[in-house]
Amino acid sequence: MHFDDVPDLSPYEATRERVREFLAVHARQGTFVPWKTTWSTFDASFTRSAGEHGFIGMTWPQHVGGCQRSALERYVVAEEMLAAGAPCGAHWIADRQSGPQILRHGSDRARQEILPRIARGECWFGIGMSEPDVGSDLASVRTRADKAPGGWRINGSKIWTTNAHQVHYIIALVRTEQATARKHDGLTQLIVDMDAPGITVRPVRDLSGHHEFNQVHFDDCFVPDDMVVGAPGQGWQMVTSELSLERSGPDRFLSAYQLLDALVERIGPEPQPHQAMLVGKLVSQLTALRRMSISVAGMLEAGHNPAVEAALVKDLGTTFEQQTAELARLAVEAQPRQHAAADPYAEALAQVMLTSPSFTLRGGTREILRGVIARGLGLR
Ligand SMILES: Cc1cc2nc3c(=O)[nH]c(=O)nc-3n(C[C@H](O)[C@H](O)[C@H](O)COP(=O)(O)OP(=O)(O)OC[C@H]3O[C@@H](n4cnc5c(N)ncnc54)[C@H](O)[C@@H]3O)c2cc1C
Repeated sequence: MHFDDVPDLSPYEATRERVREFLAVHARQGTFVPWKTTWSTFDASFTRSAGEHGFIGMTWPQHVGGCQRSALERYVVAEEMLAAGAPCGAHWIADRQSGPQILRHGSDRARQEILPRIARGECWFGIGMSEPDVGSDLASVRTRADKAPGGWRINGSKIWTTNAHQVHYIIALVRTEQATARKHDGLTQLIVDMDAPGITVRPVRDLSGHHEFNQVHFDDCFVPDDMVVGAPGQGWQMVTSELSLERSGPDRFLSAYQLLDALVERIGPEPQPHQAMLVGKLVSQLTALRRMSISVAGMLEAGHNPAVEAALVKDLGTTFEQQTAELARLAVEAQPRQHAAADPYAEALAQVMLTSPSFTLRGGTREILRGVIARGLGLR
């Protein structure tokens, strides 16, 4: 398949309408105010409602609580949620990557006990990859798990763990065998219950003052054998398959969509030539990125592993998200302001300016993605 094979989403128009109605009801009820929230905003009650409406775990089999829908239908739901600025933070990671990872590689017990709860919007996940001094060079993780009767005992620390203070589980990458010449060997992914004894979660505040990140400390924390993902020692294969789920979706180019929407509203129906040019530039890039992203969804649906294509869309998409704030500032004179109730544009601008530096870091930095792309193209 190629990027120009863009699957047809028109069979899912009824689903699109259903999501729009669902979101309109929540917006009317004041569950969320679009330009104040984004897909990473954590809201447990919104997530429960999304679960009740069948919008989580959509592609999973019915016997684990899913709806057995196609990846393309899920794409339509995801892009509507993102475009509306819906607060999906409680379920996003579980729906996008942890659940699919457990479905493919988890034990029977993990599948049966955890997946239906995720699909109902009652069980939330975090990502336990990065460690202090170990982010991009993930294979160098130092958190250790030693064999114990019936399971593993973890000691060490993870950092930048989004929502660790709120989620039920994280999937942690840990070292289970001594490092050899090939550091990618001897790693294992474990599903860690955040209520287990021996876990301490400490907050780390971000640039905007929010508490989403955490540092998680493990002190002899026990994880049972049936919470291993894949098999012991397969952690590197597991983590790379999880990362391609993390990198391939529309959340990698729609994070600043609320600002673009507010910008068009602010400019109004009679733009100055420079405003028309800047908005045209953003919309044409958005259209191209959307086609590429839908094409990646089609590749996933067809059973391919589009890791390089996904890295390309994430690199271009997050660059576009960052440019949106820069071009918006050239198009309209306005000060970014938080909590400016009467001025959605000023709020959306503040929100994107404060969060956009992270867009090219989370899920793998720009430089690392470009390395993946170069390798995929045979350039390194
Ligand atoms: C909003 C946000 C949410 C996050 N959530 C989570 C989470 O929930 N769980 C989790 O585990 N992690 C999370 N992270 C961490 C994120 O994945 C890491 O920050 C990222 O992988 C980079 O690691 P690092 O911060 O250690 O930087 P480093 O790896 O130290 O990199 C520093 C700089 O050096 C560059 N660099 C590093 N190696 C190379 C190389 N080989 N070639 C060229 N350049 C290189 C990088 O591109 C970067 O610019 C989150 C990050 C952000 C910003």
